[in-house]
Amino acid sequence: MIEFDQVSKRYADGTLAVGDLSMTAPSGAITVFVGPSGCGKTTSLRMINRMVEPTSGTIRIDGEDVTAQDPALLRRRIGYVIQHAGLFPHRTVLDNVATVPVLEGVSRAEARRRAGELLERVGLTAAMGKRYPAQLSGGQQQRVGVARALAADPPVMLMDEPFSAVDPVVRESLQQEFLRLQGELGKTIVMVTHDIDEAIKLGDHVAVFAEGGRLAQFATPEDLLAAP
Ligand code: ADP
Ligand code: ADP
Repeated sequence: MIEFDQVSKRYADGTLAVGDLSMTAPSGAITVFVGPSGCGKTTSLRMINRMVEPTSGTIRIDGEDVTAQDPALLRRRIGYVIQHAGLFPHRTVLDNVATVPVLEGVSRAEARRRAGELLERVGLTAAMGKRYPAQLSGGQQQRVGVARALAADPPVMLMDEPFSAVDPVVRESLQQEFLRLQGELGKTIVMVTHDIDEAIKLGDHVAVFAEGGRLAQFATPEDLLAAP
């Protein structure tokens, strides 16, 4: 599980992005950060893998303070998926997925074999693995982004608006496939979205952020829907 314990973040220019956030994202579940633009969702997400350091407070993963861990090692245990998949443009799709394991010492042949399996799991063919990212649709590129994040088999996945850049029909199918995959994998996932419908559809738990990075509500989708 991921615990935020009285976490605040004030950027150098004085902006209070997150104010006294305390909450827990349970293990093996999808927790969605939802709320309007600028209310501290992305900042909160990036404090988990230390892309952003809190001004005060503590974040723990399975009881361990993230600041006690080497950021590079920490990020191996934490997959990261962003809105525009952020793929390496000059590497094939297969090598996009295989690159990080190779850097971590897995042989190229083994990394490519596993990358092929992962691409299949996210619904892409071997032929697509041979293409370059620009030769795939936006929806397909997002699948590659997910496969790449899964390549290290991280227990934790952070996802920042992973389905926002694709059209509504593709989004719907990506969301369904994502839920199916998570049903098999049971990762601890924290996802950011500005779309309350997406939060309700995908979240096991929903953290509703408000102005100043304050937590307005932490609830299950059922409770949110039942609220007057
Ligand atoms: P959200 O993800 O909810 O849109 P962010 O966490 O990106 O919110 O931003 C929260 C607030 O912090 C906003 O007011 C934003 O402008 C500000 N902010 C984000 N990143 C920086 C930065 N690097 N420096 C200064 N202010 C920032
Ligand atoms: P999606 O609905 O997933 O966004 P698109 O309508 O963008 O898909 O693309 C439909 C098909 O065309 C896909 O199979 C994709 O692989 C292929 N395709 C899209 N862009 C290119 C491109 N630049 N070069 C080759 N094939 C492409």
